[in-house]
Amino acid sequence: MTVKISKFIWDITYACPLRCAHCYSESGRRPARTLDRDAAMRVIDVMLAAGAVSVMFSGGEPLSIRWAPEAMKRLHDAGILVTVFTTGWSIQEKLANTLADAVAGVSVSIDGPDAAIHNAIRGRAGAFERGMRALDILHRVKDERQAAGQNCFKFGIDYTLTRSGANEADLEQFVETAVKRFPRLDFIRLGAVIPSGLAAEREFETKEILTIEELVDMLDFGRRLAARYENGPMFVVTDVRYFLPQPGANVVDPDILQIEPDGALRAFPIYEAKVGNVLHEPLDVLWSRAQAWRADPLVAELMEGVQSMADWANTTRILDRRYGSDDDRERIRRRALAVNDARED
Ligand code: SF4
Repeated sequence: MTVKISKFIWDITYACPLRCAHCYSESGRRPARTLDRDAAMRVIDVMLAAGAVSVMFSGGEPLSIRWAPEAMKRLHDAGILVTVFTTGWSIQEKLANTLADAVAGVSVSIDGPDAAIHNAIRGRAGAFERGMRALDILHRVKDERQAAGQNCFKFGIDYTLTRSGANEADLEQFVETAVKRFPRLDFIRLGAVIPSGLAAEREFETKEILTIEELVDMLDFGRRLAARYENGPMFVVTDVRYFLPQPGANVVDPDILQIEPDGALRAFPIYEAKVGNVLHEPLDVLWSRAQAWRADPLVAELMEGVQSMADWANTTRILDRRYGSDDDRERIRRRALAVNDARED
């Protein structure tokens, strides 16, 4: 293999305890498609051969998969920056200690300033308490390991900004509470919900996706908070403008690739277009197809036209319906019908 790919996002399962309104993968509502351990190790072989620098484990809930810690540790021991994105739903002391030797970062998703908002966005009662409890456990494990002179992950909160969760006064209160409750917290990152999967559907887009202007205002808010907590966790608000689609799909991470739970490779993260499966064909071949997809005149024209978050959602809807597999298209058709049914009830 000659192709070098620095970053992989690996969705290792579509099983998930939550039912987020903005889920990019409809996890929890579809078959998990998780590989067995041996096949997962072969996916790791592919990433190692490609010279991966960073691997992000996501899903679904990646920590629900038995082989996940072993997979993470193998990459971590090979010197790769491994990060896991989790709901925190199933984190216990033992798992947190295992992660301390297997990953560089643990990111817990919290999308609302309080239980009512977070649970509504994330589609399950108890999600906020479980997430905060996971942060308690990660904090305690980090504290103990640092006291013992042992290495440990960086851990923090990834907060996906939706209209429901973007009230600045509530957010300030949430950050103040988090900083007090978890003094060893390494980061708090606020990032716009990206119009992918369910979040690209028109219903969600019109209700919950912030405009670029509103998101730019959040940058000022972020700078104020960063100044207030300059001795606390790193505080970042992602500037969504850098991630807006461009011809070629994105200029920030030109060689990032996303692998689905069964080993299917997406032409570009967030869109349903697949170019094959890393378990069945060489990555060189798949990468050429991914580049060809990104350079496709229709794809480039759609990307070029994106000026707003609404444009972006519309582009995602078109691309997913045009380039998704037959299964994807059927799933998208069913979810659109379900939204219409719910509207008529
Ligand atoms: S967004 Fe994440 S936590 Fe929510 S349902 Fe999808 S995979 Fe699960």
